[in-house]
Amino acid sequence: MKIICIGRNYVEHAKELNNEIPDEPVVFIKPSTSLLVNNKHFYHPEFSKDIHYEAEVVLKICKNGRHVHPDFARSYFKEITIGIDLTARDLQQKLKAKGLPWEKAKAFDHAAVIGKFIKANALQDDNITFQLKKNGKLVQDGNTGNMMFSFVDIICHVSKYFKLQVGDFIFTGTPAGVGRIEIGDLLTGSVEGKDLLRCEIR
Ligand code: ZN
Repeated sequence: MKIICIGRNYVEHAKELNNEIPDEPVVFIKPSTSLLVNNKHFYHPEFSKDIHYEAEVVLKICKNGRHVHPDFARSYFKEITIGIDLTARDLQQKLKAKGLPWEKAKAFDHAAVIGKFIKANALQDDNITFQLKKNGKLVQDGNTGNMMFSFVDIICHVSKYFKLQVGDFIFTGTPAGVGRIEIGDLLTGSVEGKDLLRCEIR
């Protein structure tokens, strides 16, 4: 199982970090050891003083495939949820400045928090609302209509490079409003008003 992540898929988020607007999806991968599920606590590691939450819609891949054609891409997932792409922003800035890979900042243990999945068939891919609250206060308010690359675009693009396999997850990018987590914080996430994720920072 692998976790494929898309960076800079929402213009307002790319701008808040002063990143260029990409002309094709920015892709990176997290290993299976980065997964955190079932509302487990996240234990803040010592290597970073600036871990950010990034709330994202997550697709669960239900079919194996390479070089997926746009006409068939929609059949590669049936369920979605909200996830948090935890990012050690201080490390990431250092690595980016040196042109080095991001793994230590993005792929560390439990850096991919994933909520409970719901069926995607009744939802309209380009109009899914999702929200993240920190300590009960709304911090990210997303709508997939603001994505630069749609779920179908993402599946077609990534499957040119990485074989999609049943059980893989795709994080589809974060909207504006990312920020730091501290020990004691509680993150809660919802999709279409349904509470699907809860994560306490310890
Ligand atoms: Zn992200």
